[in-house]
Amino acid sequence: MTTDAPAHAHERVLSTLNEDGSRRWLYPRLSKGRFLTRRRLVAYVLLIVYNALPWISIGGKPSIHLNLPAREFTFFGATFLPTDTVLLMLFVAGLFVLIFLLTALFGRVWCGWACPQTVYLEFIYRPIERLFEGEPTARGERPKKIPGWRVAGKYVVFFLISWHLAHTFLAYFVEPTTLLQWSTQSPFDHPAAFTIVMAVTGLMLFDFVYFREQTCIVACPYGRFQSVMLDRQSLIISYDESRGEPRGKLKKRRSKGTPAKDDLSLKVVHEAPVRGDCIDCEMCVTTCPTGIDIRRGLQMECIGCAQCIDACDSVMDRIGRPRGLIRYSSQAAMEENRRSVIRPRVFIYPAILSIIVIAFVTVLVTSPAANVTIHRIGDRAYTVVDSGMASGMVRNDLELRIVNRTNEPQRYRFTIGGIEGGELISQDQNLELPAGGRGRAAVSLFVPREAFTMGRATATITLRDDGGYEREMTYRLQGPWGSESSDSQKRETAP
Ligand code: SF4
Ligand code: SF4
Repeated sequence: MTTDAPAHAHERVLSTLNEDGSRRWLYPRLSKGRFLTRRRLVAYVLLIVYNALPWISIGGKPSIHLNLPAREFTFFGATFLPTDTVLLMLFVAGLFVLIFLLTALFGRVWCGWACPQTVYLEFIYRPIERLFEGEPTARGERPKKIPGWRVAGKYVVFFLISWHLAHTFLAYFVEPTTLLQWSTQSPFDHPAAFTIVMAVTGLMLFDFVYFREQTCIVACPYGRFQSVMLDRQSLIISYDESRGEPRGKLKKRRSKGTPAKDDLSLKVVHEAPVRGDCIDCEMCVTTCPTGIDIRRGLQMECIGCAQCIDACDSVMDRIGRPRGLIRYSSQAAMEENRRSVIRPRVFIYPAILSIIVIAFVTVLVTSPAANVTIHRIGDRAYTVVDSGMASGMVRNDLELRIVNRTNEPQRYRFTIGGIEGGELISQDQNLELPAGGRGRAAVSLFVPREAFTMGRATATITLRDDGGYEREMTYRLQGPWGSESSDSQKRETAP
């Protein structure tokens, strides 16, 4: 699909690198058209979604909350804990397969239409820049002679938006109520939080004011992977070489009586002799946010934003040619006039995805209502009680670490079974835990010494909650091996 493109687009190693190695700053021209209108609509809806999600509560929890210090991840009311390794693994695997499938079908539709980087850059930051500094030049360069106050005004607004964006970003990681508290109190009350907010604001400014399209071109791993995820039938934005070539500039011929300044009324004819539809106006190049020339074929830098389609369609309208010289298509359709959605990966990816979803739901539904782990505490393996009511019993001190995985507060009780005469005593009986809360209960198990064989006895500890959940756990207790006189762990204890 490679053709002769303008020299300035061809000679660069990277579209954003000048020949001397300096950064080529891009100021893409805005091309109005049907795709820009649709993308704008999608972007405004997504902006609302991105900003609202952390503040919307489902079942008493934020709809999305990534609590990194506690290693708890909440998605739409379901909280995943570090012990949910299988669920997390399935979730991540499902996400990857879904990305593979979407990319195989629709190319980089995520990049061009929904990625927060694109949405914020193209529909917030760049419009503000144009508002303060004016439209880029016809060559896609920054307007000349911008008054200083306009530049300063732009940076002030950029700072405020980045500051807001930093709060939105942090709201995914910090409880919204905590974040509100941070925002309304003096920075000196929360120096660490203030530093985090300012650091994230700085990062946002760096990304959207300085780094910009470099994030898509050199930093985002998805951009790197796309070449292995696409096939010849994937939907991409393509230039129709068979229709556009050989390209050539137009000679303008004015209709009789038409004012010279009215460009739209100009009739245009090709310079010589028979040419393709591309008039080499470079509107598709100067509008491209990553600075590439789509006429060179599919390139890694193309984020699928469709701005070149809108630009070229408007040119075709003006010269009286059919739209679609640049359009959504596929490599196979462009080169062999063969478009087929049906191919192996279109069935294989959904099949794998279905298996993952079924496995995920099964694990989720069968997950216990409480996570419990048992830990031995104290500095002795066991104690033989030789006074009081429990005289002659062997005591094991344990701690139950419990996570309430339900969406309701729960109260927990514990009992011992499996050993005749065994008794469980705990000051933490009726331990109350909020939804998703964690807690510890110290328990002491008293077991007759006759229950031990070669220093071991197996007990069953049962945990019950208010919701009717019951969990039995077997635990191997430690005790004396032989006669009372040889008991090295013995001490006086009265329960
Ligand atoms: S906008 Fe269309 S006509 Fe103009 S250079 Fe690009 S492909 Fe050719
Ligand atoms: S080539 Fe077209 S679709 Fe790709 S990034 Fe540039 S303007 Fe967007």
